[in-house]
Amino acid sequence: MVLAIISVLLLVILILIAVYIGLNRGEVEQVEEENSMIHASGIYSIVRKSPREEAMKARPDLEEIRKYLLSSNVDTGKYQLSERDQDILLEHWDESLKKNIAVIEQGDKEGVEFYYYEFVPEDCPVCKRYFSRGHFVTREEIFHHPRIIPPFHPGCTTSIFPHHGKEDLRDTTELGMLPLFKEDVPPPLPEWNAIVKPNALWGSTA
Ligand SMILES: [Zn+2]
Repeated sequence: MVLAIISVLLLVILILIAVYIGLNRGEVEQVEEENSMIHASGIYSIVRKSPREEAMKARPDLEEIRKYLLSSNVDTGKYQLSERDQDILLEHWDESLKKNIAVIEQGDKEGVEFYYYEFVPEDCPVCKRYFSRGHFVTREEIFHHPRIIPPFHPGCTTSIFPHHGKEDLRDTTELGMLPLFKEDVPPPLPEWNAIVKPNALWGSTA
């Protein structure tokens, strides 16, 4: 009888030990799995940080641009910018920057890897000298060089659009889809103090 009780106790202890080891192993595996996921997504999560702050830092603020617009009237006389012109240019700059950042934030939610440039609603005469519509950049290039987020100067009509295709644009033969960067080197870009008065901002009657 005593022997039977000891046997049962031993069996129960053995079962408990087995269950304990099993649970621990499960936990270890789970932790390992989580670690590998974090590791795999390390770059992903850094790259996917909203570009808002860095994009703002990479360019002059509205006050600096307003000052420049004021002085350019005096210095160059190239464009006789009225106060209303300045307001329109500044408002457009602000809206365009916010819109392009929002495009990337939305793209991040959808896992977009490539973005391409487009002139909307008309060509930007300044930017056209640097790149063409359809030139594309990767999300990682945007992360490393937030200055490549348009607009590039007051009156700039360049916008950025997500490329939703599954193919790697670097391998595509799609007409006009060319990488903006050559071997990870940032390309020359328009100076922020170029000023353009696109017809689209003033309407066709302006
Ligand atoms: Zn431009």
